Amino acid sequence: MKPGKTALVTGSTSGIGLEIAREFAKQGANLVLNGFGNAQEIESLRAGLAKEHGIEVIYSPADLSKPAEIAQMITQAESKFGGVDVLVNNAGIQFVSPIEEFPVEKWDAILAINLTGAFHTTRLVVPHMKKQKWGRIINMSSAHGLVASPFKAAYVSAKHALLGLTKTVALETAEFGITVNAICPGYVMTPLVKKQIPDTAKARGISEDAVIRDVMLEPQPTKRFVETSEVAGLALFLTTDAAASITGAALPIDGGWTAH
Ligand code: NAD
Repeated sequence: MKPGKTALVTGSTSGIGLEIAREFAKQGANLVLNGFGNAQEIESLRAGLAKEHGIEVIYSPADLSKPAEIAQMITQAESKFGGVDVLVNNAGIQFVSPIEEFPVEKWDAILAINLTGAFHTTRLVVPHMKKQKWGRIINMSSAHGLVASPFKAAYVSAKHALLGLTKTVALETAEFGITVNAICPGYVMTPLVKKQIPDTAKARGISEDAVIRDVMLEPQPTKRFVETSEVAGLALFLTTDAAASITGAALPIDGGWTAH
């Protein structure tokens, strides 16, 4: 990542997105932060990153399930920075339930945030990237974009579909110096994963310890959680010139999960 580029990372107030934003800040990129949380904490994060790295950082509270708010966020980024050079579609939510009890509103919300939000941000940033003949789009899919697990119908569907979006936009933009890739992490211990432990225990009729040991770490041959810093390192690599020929790819970072 060259200093002075502008990166928009959706869902960057927590977990993987926050770590990616920090990594990009270290490289001297200007940032658009997005996501939910305590307003004071977000403001101190924004001001802290700007001061520590001598960069410009703005924050958008856009709800990724609301197309009008997404459009407003992109307009805000364009008027401050002239456009978005690196887009990371990272915001995401999870819900765990057997299909016959899966709440319809949870299905709709997961598809809206984890898939349709990325469609809207992408369609709105591509014109600037095409014009300048350079851009990087990174979609945060999951090992669950490549394989399924029970009780995650909406999440697995959205993450698989996000790979379809990734490949399609990669083909459309390949001659414009733009790359579009998906990162497919295995389990990373973030708030999103912590929150699903009790529901997974309930859906499977097992203890919370057994969820960590037998559900989350069992499919990961490394027997450890993937680190947020490892995912951020891969995202950073995808922004470099060395990664210019990687496009339309789904890159697993899952401790070997999808190898078996
Ligand atoms: P997290 O809960 O720590 O962070 C999610 C972020 O998305 C937060 O900043 C949150 O405020 C934001 N967000 C949620 N709903 C939003 C909305 N409607 N509008 C805008 N922002 C919203 O979770 P995480 O584990 O860091 O997940 C980040 C991404 O990585 C997600 O897409 C997730 O599916 C994916 N992922 C996570 C794991 C894992 O094991 N943690 C594995 C594979 C993929």
